[in-house]
Amino acid sequence: MAAPCRLISRLAVVSGGGSGIGRAVCQRFASEGASVVVADRNEESAHKTLELLSRNYRGQEHVALEVDVSLKESVGRLVNAIQSHYFQPPSICVSAAGITQDEFLLKMEEEDFDRVIQVNLKGTFLLTQAVSSALVAAGISKGSIITVGSIVGKVGNVGQINYSASKAGVEGLTRTAAKELSKYGIRCNCILPGFIASPMTENLPEKVMSKVSPLILMGRMGKPAEVADVCAFLASDDSQYITGVSIEVAGGLFIG
Ligand code: NAP
Repeated sequence: MAAPCRLISRLAVVSGGGSGIGRAVCQRFASEGASVVVADRNEESAHKTLELLSRNYRGQEHVALEVDVSLKESVGRLVNAIQSHYFQPPSICVSAAGITQDEFLLKMEEEDFDRVIQVNLKGTFLLTQAVSSALVAAGISKGSIITVGSIVGKVGNVGQINYSASKAGVEGLTRTAAKELSKYGIRCNCILPGFIASPMTENLPEKVMSKVSPLILMGRMGKPAEVADVCAFLASDDSQYITGVSIEVAGGLFIG
């Protein structure tokens, strides 16, 4: 079935767009008519996503830009570059850049805790702030900010003290942003993926997966495209009365 075309004439930026969920989001947005800025610290993978978009979705102009979301100057450069190129800020912003540095609480090094918070939580803050400031300054009274938390931000996960804290923070950040930005017409929502097959999860130990799999009602890991489906809904006017919520895309993981 062909994707609907709900994002025609919209400009979107997707951090982490070079891989996994972010790449799938870029593809889905482009398939719905958006122009997409693929933003990633990994220039090579960002350009691979761009190639896919340019080959399959030619009607719009897409670009790939390098960014380190944990650095304010880098995020500022990204948003300036987007505005110089398109003469407008993006009205859709997805913060999908993320990392893991797993270790048990009793062994976690301070720098591994800090790094995960810097990328996952502070990175989401910096991009959300930069894009929403640009929208407000440009007088654009319509925007959709989509953040990517995780189911483990709600329930915790052994070996992920830093990651689960960062993702719980992303949910709180999103709800607060929704409260502050609704008066500017900007909606903010958070996606909570469960276990999604991507480079981030490809090296999960078998003993972890064998414990988790029976807890997934749908009986399998999710696909990045299934997360992208929900992002496209949240980016589009089909969700125009939805803000400040978190949506689990987890196949029923941990509900029982
Ligand atoms: P992924 O395949 O590893 O993609 C993450 C992308 O973000 C990579 O291209 C990575 O670049 C980039 N990145 C990392 N640090 C960055 C930084 N400082 N600035 C800019 N880009 C950066 O992971 P994924 O599975 O698609 O995950 C996407 C998001 O979903 C993450 O926030 C993740 O926490 C979240 N999530 C994933 C799952 C899952 O099961 N996969 C579940 C819940 C939540 P490099 O390749 O250079 O690292």
